[in-house]
Amino acid sequence: SVSLLELTNVSKEFHVGGDTRVYALDDVSLSVDAGETVAVIGESGSGKSTLGRLALRLIEPTRGSVRFDGADVLALPAAEMRKLRAKLQIIFQEPFESLNPRMRVADIIGEPLAIHRPTMSTAQRRARVAQMIEQVGLAPDMARRYPGELSGGQQQRVGIARAVVTEPSLVVLDEPTSSLDLSVRAQILRLLADLQAELGMGYLFISHDIHTVRYVSDRIAVMYRGRVVETGPSELVFADPQHPYTRALLAAALPVDPDQELAPARLVGDPLSPTQLV
Ligand code: ADP
Repeated sequence: SVSLLELTNVSKEFHVGGDTRVYALDDVSLSVDAGETVAVIGESGSGKSTLGRLALRLIEPTRGSVRFDGADVLALPAAEMRKLRAKLQIIFQEPFESLNPRMRVADIIGEPLAIHRPTMSTAQRRARVAQMIEQVGLAPDMARRYPGELSGGQQQRVGIARAVVTEPSLVVLDEPTSSLDLSVRAQILRLLADLQAELGMGYLFISHDIHTVRYVSDRIAVMYRGRVVETGPSELVFADPQHPYTRALLAAALPVDPDQELAPARLVGDPLSPTQLV
């Protein structure tokens, strides 16, 4: 069977002045199947966002291939690329920053339909938005409110409704619960799982916290300095982590120097500060 998203031997270098290059991703291979949740776990700077942006086609890799539904997306003509865009969505960490504060909830959720489904009538769009509002657990009267009038959890529900209203096949979840109160996090994870069960989309779930994704991901990819150091079914990774870095993440606190047990970082060009090495 063909994977929904398939990244093969993907590297991404950034030029950061002179001959100095940073490897944000170094030879990463990862796939997401339809209806599957793949968690990408790692510390800040490990390459998670770069991976998410690649999956969404916001950036291109320096090397390697990106296939979506079997098609080589790096070679797609512009018209095909536009169609693909409607199938790729993202849910952000900070719902408020991702929502236009001057738009009402109904218009925020309906906007992707206006863009990607231009033949839909206004009445059809309104009906679909009302249905989405109910589906994400918001009260009908919230349709007329502005984001600033909602709680953090409600704002994230709006962000989720906006992301799934066009029925995408892949959604990148970029730390979707990290900015929320603890009491709200489980509710939002539950909602994301329910929507996936109903709509069948694949999730690429980015998180710095391996414990957050434990019960919602089918597979886990652990990233360290631009590389996937361990990948496998969630239960297996938790029960029997193979890589010392994964074991460190699973422990309550990180060791002082995880480098001790890892291969040296790769560097091209001028020496950089340790934080820039990948
Ligand atoms: P994470 O999401 O895990 O925090 P990122 O993907 O944002 O990691 O970053 C991975 C590495 O790539 C970091 O060292 C970061 O500084 C570098 N990087 C990311 N984007 C750029 C960019 N546009 N220009 C230069 N370096 C970048």
